[in-house]
Amino acid sequence: MPRPTWTSCWRSASAPRRLPEHPAASAVIAAAGSGERLGAGGPKAFVPLAGRPLVEWSLEAFARAQSVGPVIIAVPAGCEDRVGDAAAAVVGGDSRSESVAAGLERVETELVAVHDAARPLVTAELIDELIEKLLDRPDAAAVIAAAPLTDTVKRAREPRPANGEFPHGGPTVAETVSRDHLWAAQTPQVFRTAALRESLDTDPPRVAVATDDAMLVEKAGGKVLIHPSPAKNLKVTTPLDLRIAELLLARERTDGPESQ
Ligand code: C5P
Repeated sequence: MPRPTWTSCWRSASAPRRLPEHPAASAVIAAAGSGERLGAGGPKAFVPLAGRPLVEWSLEAFARAQSVGPVIIAVPAGCEDRVGDAAAAVVGGDSRSESVAAGLERVETELVAVHDAARPLVTAELIDELIEKLLDRPDAAAVIAAAPLTDTVKRAREPRPANGEFPHGGPTVAETVSRDHLWAAQTPQVFRTAALRESLDTDPPRVAVATDDAMLVEKAGGKVLIHPSPAKNLKVTTPLDLRIAELLLARERTDGPESQ
């Protein structure tokens, strides 16, 4: 059989997992995006990163997390039969939220950790910390990983056009925003499964454009806690991000995970 190229689906080499006896949470990994902004000619989740498909780094972290049982991964249509025994595959939807909703249908635990395959530097320790925090806080509906903003933040007078091209050469600053209260939301985001289900079931137009799941729970009045997370839990969007992720993973291999 010819060796598949990276743009085709891959078959995970990972062995079946031994699940924890009483897992606190399941995981849903969103991996069904097209990866257009990466410009790699295929789904981002399967782009090679430090010797393996990008999504396998996340799968490994979730397999190592003590508090996670079943892992469900939403992949592009045609790839569902090719995920190995480490996770159950479902076909993703047209939007990120639809992909998460498809994965959520398979969840039977009280808590669920949602993660973007585009964040390959996630660690088992971070996943377990988030789940533990939500277990300790019955008043909260969710806990999200987030990094404090370090750049000075400007609000522009004009909205950013979808294609990124401003008609008059560039936007104008309206004001500088204090960053004291600002955080960059990441994944994993851990939810009470019932709260996330309810939020994804309401207002389809809003759900379709949601860039994370916590915003839907916030809108529904649920309390969302922030768990400070390392900036190195970066999201791979552009070729530069991919290169940085590669360098960080290479450094971890030589110096150990505490090196960053
Ligand atoms: O496009 P973006 O990088 O914001 O996507 C974030 C995550 O959501 C990625 O891991 C991507 O694979 C996933 N996604 C998905 N289904 C979609 C669109 C994005 O699972 N329809």
